Amino acid sequence: MRARTVQVDALVIGGGVVGCAVLRELSRFQATVALLERQPDICDVTSKANSAIVHTGFDAPPGSVEAGLLARARDLWPGVIEELRIPYLQTGAVMVAAGRQEMEAIRQEIVPKAERNGVTLSELTADEIMENLPAVTPEVVGGVLVEGEGVIDPFWTTRAYAENAVRNGAQVYLEHGVTGISVHADGVTVETAPGTTFQARIVVNAAGLWSDEVARLAGDNSFRITPRKGQFIITEDDLGIGQIVLPVPSKISKGILVTPIVFGGTMLGPTAEEVTDKTDLSTTAEGLRRIRQGVAKLVPDAAGASTIRQFAGLRAVSSTGDYIVGPSPTGRRLITVAGIRSTGLSVSPALGRHVAELVRDELNLAARGDFDPTLPELLAEAREDEGDVICLCRAITRGEILEALRSPLPPATLDGLKRRTGAMLGDCQGNICMPRLIELLRRELGRDPLTLPKNVRGSSPVVSPVRAPASSGRER
Ligand SMILES: Cc1cc2nc3c(=O)[nH]c(=O)nc-3n(C[C@H](O)[C@H](O)[C@H](O)COP(=O)(O)OP(=O)(O)OC[C@H]3O[C@@H](n4cnc5c(N)ncnc54)[C@H](O)[C@@H]3O)c2cc1C
Repeated sequence: MRARTVQVDALVIGGGVVGCAVLRELSRFQATVALLERQPDICDVTSKANSAIVHTGFDAPPGSVEAGLLARARDLWPGVIEELRIPYLQTGAVMVAAGRQEMEAIRQEIVPKAERNGVTLSELTADEIMENLPAVTPEVVGGVLVEGEGVIDPFWTTRAYAENAVRNGAQVYLEHGVTGISVHADGVTVETAPGTTFQARIVVNAAGLWSDEVARLAGDNSFRITPRKGQFIITEDDLGIGQIVLPVPSKISKGILVTPIVFGGTMLGPTAEEVTDKTDLSTTAEGLRRIRQGVAKLVPDAAGASTIRQFAGLRAVSSTGDYIVGPSPTGRRLITVAGIRSTGLSVSPALGRHVAELVRDELNLAARGDFDPTLPELLAEAREDEGDVICLCRAITRGEILEALRSPLPPATLDGLKRRTGAMLGDCQGNICMPRLIELLRRELGRDPLTLPKNVRGSSPVVSPVRAPASSGRER
């Protein structure tokens, strides 16, 4: 294959929620912009595996980069949700004190910290909590309401940022892992695994867990990223929980929560475990036990809830203790966006805007007059001939699947289709609808079922074509 060189003004490395938010904001300017992602699809690492809460930042370290971004994001979210039609539930979160000591911690530490972060919490009595959330532990003595918190669809958010950017002219290169970077005074050369070289005037490193390794490719050894695992259980049992239920947090994590999911069901978790392997997404008996133990203190019924799925995500923890956002020590034309640990989804509108402003100022970019911030409704009413229901658990029609397959950034994997439409997210987890989805991917996108991955390369659920039984003697 002949080596190829692509010239762009601004290049983003990493197709998680952060990189895609940056791409969208960059596409507002008169510039050529592109994103490189090494996986077959966007939103395939940490951005797909989190609690999906839009945090207010009430408990962020006051004065930190993270707290500043969360404050700016609070103002931007309503507009972003409307423009990109993101499924969102303004549930509010209730922090539950299961004893006098915890209530004192809320009053002495949590409420003053929230005030310093510009978030007002309202104290609740035990009766007020029980009235809205009768399943909460009878040991509750009181708590606080964090009114501004809500739950969102993280897959939709990431896909919508990227698709909106693509509709405004941005390019997304999938399966383009970055293997080499050299920073010059007026630009950056980026080598990728398929052999394509990118010459960019500026590059944004938003490679999540691997942002330290990407930085090292450019000669920047100034920070390290270590993974902190969070395991989750998903249940479809009716726990009667319509608000996020939080424990009083510890020093290293927000604790184990009970969280309604925007598209149905309830999420229990996450754990917080220091691990060393950036690809270790295993769930463990010990982790699941800890989740059940944790939720028992908040919502006793949740401890025995049946599981439809369990999964893990890895937080990207930086050695500096805060988010790292700004020019790399190797030169102004490489911008680091790293260590976006526990609130990357929540800060994404503000982080995308802030990084795009850094790029604008460095390259002296002008705004486009024709930027369209909106997305058409993706899962529109099914056309009459496409109205048959394919995902029975979530009542998702063939028309909805076809719209996702025909979008400007179509799914490259079965999980990509799941995240775009919600098919296979329900009780049966794809056991019933997967064959029909595979057939639609074959017909619409020409994908060979034998090589179609579930997620990563080589994970195809189809092993071989079905052979007719030898004894039938007739072609069926
Ligand atoms: C257990 C848990 C719970 C969480 N709960 C919440 C929550 O409720 N609310 C919230 O706001 N946040 C939450 N978060 C945090 C949030 O999920 C992250 O901050 C966010 O997803 C980080 O996004 P990202 O784009 O930086 O990283 P990622 O999603 O990991 O994206 C980085 C991308 O870079 C790509 N990449 C890496 N190396 C290369 C390379 N060499 N070349 C090309 N591409 C590369 C990767 O493949 C990946 O797609 C939680 C996280 C965890 C783990």
